[in-house]
Amino acid sequence: MEKVTVLGSTGSIGVSTLDVLNRHPERFEIYALAANRSVDIIFDQILACSPRYAVLRDEQQAEVLAERLRETDSSTQVLAGEAELCRVAAEADTVMAAIVGAAGLLPTMAAVEAGAKVLLANKESLVMAGALFMSAVERSGAQLLPIDSEHNAIFQCLPENHRQGLAAQGVKRILLTGSGGPFRQTPLSELVGVTPDQACAHPNWSMGRKISVDSATMMNKGLELIEACWLFHCQPEQIEVVVHPQSVIHSMVEYVDGSVLAQMGQPDMRTPIAHALSWPSRMVSGVASLDLILQARLDFEAPDVERFPCLRLAREAAEAGGIASATLNAANEIAVEAFLGGKLSFTDIPVVLEQVMARLDNREPLALADVQDADARARVAASALLAKL
Ligand code: NAD
Ligand code: MG
Repeated sequence: MEKVTVLGSTGSIGVSTLDVLNRHPERFEIYALAANRSVDIIFDQILACSPRYAVLRDEQQAEVLAERLRETDSSTQVLAGEAELCRVAAEADTVMAAIVGAAGLLPTMAAVEAGAKVLLANKESLVMAGALFMSAVERSGAQLLPIDSEHNAIFQCLPENHRQGLAAQGVKRILLTGSGGPFRQTPLSELVGVTPDQACAHPNWSMGRKISVDSATMMNKGLELIEACWLFHCQPEQIEVVVHPQSVIHSMVEYVDGSVLAQMGQPDMRTPIAHALSWPSRMVSGVASLDLILQARLDFEAPDVERFPCLRLAREAAEAGGIASATLNAANEIAVEAFLGGKLSFTDIPVVLEQVMARLDNREPLALADVQDADARARVAASALLAKL
């Protein structure tokens, strides 16, 4: 039995992961479930799949959870705090890294350093600490498998030995597709007034609120561009972003002979999750067949640079290297939180990012502490700007 820890089990990816795992009880044992503070959801998950451990980041909520479990016959042990999140990540064979945002950095790195099979949904950890993250993967021998649907698609379309560099394998470029989000066709003059609920109503995917806002600004595609550079050992200019509103093609790889390979499927995260859990074999995910006749058409367009300034900012950060993308990521987390809280307009999200990027200098991080320092400084700078806007 493969021992699996699900970091972020109560979120959108976590719930889909448990759905897939529960279809294959003969193969996977759920070792630990971990989340921030959602007691009700994790309580039901514990009763349904009896993990050895349940970890909540929030110590008070962990107390509440332990109290509630005492009234059941559950033998799951409740733990609390970040150190325990890292411990259950390091102890498993396979770790689904699906905490949202910078909070996922240390637990994901703990899994990497322990040499686990790491299923990476938490793109922010790779965006923040790409070089350190990838050298830890090399050192520990961890198996890194992408869960982000685009990266999982690219992984499926690349030759197996892509680690030796894309050009050496005859790859010309990567076509990173994105739906363009809910505001692809909204008149530019109306963007300033859009609400968090409108931003979170994604046309194709059902996701957590932070990534939904990132999809609406296309910062998600920007973070994915940076993520792809690290995962596939390539330069930003080898990746072209293509808007594909139907989200049926999840990304493509073009080879020097003119062949373009695409991975297609329903927009349902259980496909990449099952692919990564089962890799290199295949297993059932619960996802329905893609009906191409019903789908009828696939459209493509170039991203609108005026509408989506976050995409340009992410490309600039990818080109700058160093701590630039950690700075961008942290400023984005602050701006998105402010937007979701009704304290910042949608169109001011890129304004905050651009100003934070211009104010803070760039350098090469030598250790995770440097990344965490860049993250903290960007949060302070972004919060100070919010107060002025
Ligand atoms: P979500 O908001 O639905 O869930 C987030 C999870 O993280 C929850 O379980 C929450 O309890 C946990 N969490 C939050 N802060 C934490 C903390 N400080 N310590 C421990 N746990 C904490 O988010 P999601 O949509 O499931 O996304 C999770 C990650 O996967 C993100 O990095 C996102 O970019 C990535 N991703 C998501 C999708 C998707 O379809 N939802 C697709 C691709 C990539
Ligand atoms: Mg994605």
